[in-house]
Amino acid sequence: MTSVIFEERRDQVVTKGEAPFRISCDKESLAGAVSQRACVFCGSRVVLYPIADALHLVHGPVGCAAYTWDIRGALSSGPELHRLSFSTDLREQDVIFGGEKKLERALIELIDRHGPNAAFVYSTCIVGLIGDDLAAVCKRVQEAKGIPVIPVQSEGFKGNKRAGYAAACRAMFSLVGSGDTAGISPHSVNLLGDFNLAGEIWIIRGYLERMGVEVVANITGDGRVADIMRAHGAGLNVVQCSGSTMELARMMQEAFGVPSIRASYFGVDDMAKALYDIAEHFGEPKLMERAKQVVREELATVYPQIMEARRRLAGKKAAIYVGGAFKAFSLVKSFRLLGMQTVLVGSQTGTDEDYQELAAITDPGTVIVDDANPLELMTILKEKGADVFVGGVKERPIAYKLGIGFCDHNHERKLALEGFVGIVNFAREIERTVLSPVWNFVPRIGGAPLGARRAA
Ligand code: SF4
Repeated sequence: MTSVIFEERRDQVVTKGEAPFRISCDKESLAGAVSQRACVFCGSRVVLYPIADALHLVHGPVGCAAYTWDIRGALSSGPELHRLSFSTDLREQDVIFGGEKKLERALIELIDRHGPNAAFVYSTCIVGLIGDDLAAVCKRVQEAKGIPVIPVQSEGFKGNKRAGYAAACRAMFSLVGSGDTAGISPHSVNLLGDFNLAGEIWIIRGYLERMGVEVVANITGDGRVADIMRAHGAGLNVVQCSGSTMELARMMQEAFGVPSIRASYFGVDDMAKALYDIAEHFGEPKLMERAKQVVREELATVYPQIMEARRRLAGKKAAIYVGGAFKAFSLVKSFRLLGMQTVLVGSQTGTDEDYQELAAITDPGTVIVDDANPLELMTILKEKGADVFVGGVKERPIAYKLGIGFCDHNHERKLALEGFVGIVNFAREIERTVLSPVWNFVPRIGGAPLGARRAA
């Protein structure tokens, strides 16, 4: 494997147990390494995209907008303006003479046509280069149209995807604090970092309703501008996907005193822990009793199904490469529950703290990787003999080219994997792909020989 790792990246690929665990991370991608990471603009776009009653206008060449247009599974229970992707389609002339007038015309036309409750205007690489004053245009249109028009300073070259998350958080924070908080229950939360893929936020809201906890704002799955404006009235921010929205939670704590906890809704242990942590935060014995009741009822349904899947999957090997490391923690635990071993785990944006946690929960021999590229991933998958690869749209072809199973765990998916019902869906998905008869007819490149897999 070492032959495919660039010298400059050697301290970002570590095998657990070979030495005291140390990994280098949270730094710019190496030029020429073809990182799996997305750009700054994409980072901010994925976080803000599910705000369904807002206009999302990409100021830049049409390609940037196409890249993020409606391939994602974020559902809305009402308006669906988020599913339309608008672009100012900057051309050569705009690059020479500036794109501000075009942007202003586009904003006014779109606001008149669609009547959004707010508009987000994303800056792309070329806008950063030609120096259009996005903030000035947004301010003019906001005054003229009477809705928040928010610049998102997300020029693609400005850093990595994490910088895009930060730009999105700053944009959302400009809305928080302007809404009426009257009538909000003291036992209330905002759900941060859940994108309502396949309706997942509705599953989590259902559990919280059964506990008697009010959800003030979904940030950002099935999101609404008015909810975000009054989000400072909630008693607690519950932050999933902490890489993307922890910055917003931090800003809300500083400005409005709203405390936050981290949570994951993936996997039995973490889902139950999230409900218990919320109940514990409010210190109300009745809430804790109801949380335990929810967990008991849900487990009674799903546990036999999980054990059934485990019987068939035990001993198989899994590999994980995801955007944020927090999701990876839950995946490692979920595979363990299914009797499977995680042989590779990595993320695009993990921090040192995240990787220390991954090192603590994985088995010796597991390869832990930060900001990987296709060549590294392919090599490790082959060497470790993984049976299934969990990732997103950019990891799927790597798995299929190698002839191994794939599970989509990213924003493009249409299958709910959160909550207690989600772990059953996950187990079924893993079972379907790992045990598919198709692998008897597709030679795996490297890894276990075909005959051995037939026999397995
Ligand atoms: S890197 Fe720049 S040009 Fe490419 S998608 Fe991102 S913003 Fe657009």
